[in-house]
Amino acid sequence: MPDAAQVSTELRYVIDESKALRRHPYELVVSERRWRTFGVTVKADGSVVVRVPVLEREDYPQVVGWLVKQAPRIAGLVAQQRATAPAHPVKRLIPGEAFDLLGASYRLRPVTGYEPVIEVDYTGSGNKFLMADRATLARRGARLLVDWYVEQGQIYAEWELDHWVRRMGLAGRVPDLRVRGRDMGRTKWGRYLGREHRIELNWQLFQLDKRFVQYVIVHELAHATRPAERWHHGPLWEGEMDRVLPHWRVVREAMTEPGRHVWQGDVRAGGES
Ligand SMILES: [Zn+2]
Repeated sequence: MPDAAQVSTELRYVIDESKALRRHPYELVVSERRWRTFGVTVKADGSVVVRVPVLEREDYPQVVGWLVKQAPRIAGLVAQQRATAPAHPVKRLIPGEAFDLLGASYRLRPVTGYEPVIEVDYTGSGNKFLMADRATLARRGARLLVDWYVEQGQIYAEWELDHWVRRMGLAGRVPDLRVRGRDMGRTKWGRYLGREHRIELNWQLFQLDKRFVQYVIVHELAHATRPAERWHHGPLWEGEMDRVLPHWRVVREAMTEPGRHVWQGDVRAGGES
C-alpha cells in the first residue's frame, strides 16, 4: 500500500497534467481512512479542496475522470463563493475619502483646530462633509471614526428601538441597547443576550441604509420577545418577524450585498503630511 504523502505528490502531478482543475487553485487532501469515495468542497475564499483516500497508481485516472465530470459543479460553487465573499474596503484618512452613515455618504474633511473634533457638517448646501480635527485624526486614526459610528449608531438605534418596543409589546421591559466598536467577528450585525436582556449591535451596521438597521433591531427584539424558544430562529421567532416586519426576508436578502462592502476600520497609510 502506498503512503498518503506519496499519493499526494504523484496525484497532484497527474491532476495538474490533466488540467481537470486548471482554472482553480486547489488543495489535495489524501486521507489514510478507508473510504473509497472522492470529495470536493469549495472554501469561502473560492479555493477548491479535493479529498481522496490513499490510492494505487492505477486508480489515479479514475480521480481525474471524476474531477472532469465535477468541473461544472465546481465552477458553479466557486462563482457562488466569489459573489458572496466579503470584500471590505481599506480606506485612507485623507480629504475626500467617503464614509457612509445610515445610507448617506460623507466626504472626510480634516480641518485644523476643529471643534467638536468630529461631526457631519449639515450647514453646507448639498455638500455632505464629515469634518474632523486634523491633529486628533492624525493621533487617533481610524479609532476616531469608529467611535463616531458608535456614538451616531447609539443615538439612532435608541430612537428606532423606542418605536419597535411599543409595536412589539415590549414596552414594560425594554431591553438594554449597546453599540459596540469592535470587530464583527462571528456575531455579525448584532446579538441578543437573554440573561442581560440586552441587544448588542456592531458599529459597522450603521454604514448601511436605515431599513437594514431597522431589520437587525427587529430581528434582535424578536429574540427578546421569545427568550424561551428552543431554536434561535425557530417558528415562534419567525412568527413574530412575520407579524411585525412582513417583508423581513426580502430585506435580509438585500442586505447581503452591501454587507460585504462595509468598512471594518482598516486603513492604509498615505494620510496628509
Ligand atoms: Zn438571530
